Amino acid sequence: MLAQLFKRKPKKREQTTFVYCPTCRLELCSRIECFVEDTDLVKYKCTQCGTISQWDFDAPTPILLFVRGKPYKPMTAPRSASGGEGDGRNLQTECPLP
Ligand SMILES: [Zn+2]
Repeated sequence: MLAQLFKRKPKKREQTTFVYCPTCRLELCSRIECFVEDTDLVKYKCTQCGTISQWDFDAPTPILLFVRGKPYKPMTAPRSASGGEGDGRNLQTECPLP
């Protein structure tokens, strides 16, 4: 799946790199004040909401790897909206002591 995304942009790296704050969508790449460091990962700190994000710029397009120091997880399937709490009572079984 990811490989398909990369192949869609065969161009080499240009001045078209944009990274956005994962929290408030502030554009970080063009804001020097957001730049923190460039080691193995490029680190930005959003000046608007303070979210620290770390990106892998070796890929054709920057990949968001960490948010606030924790591995970034793309959208996960939402839990079933129809509650679930309280149903445990039905599953409770009484174990008669011998
Ligand atoms: Zn932000």
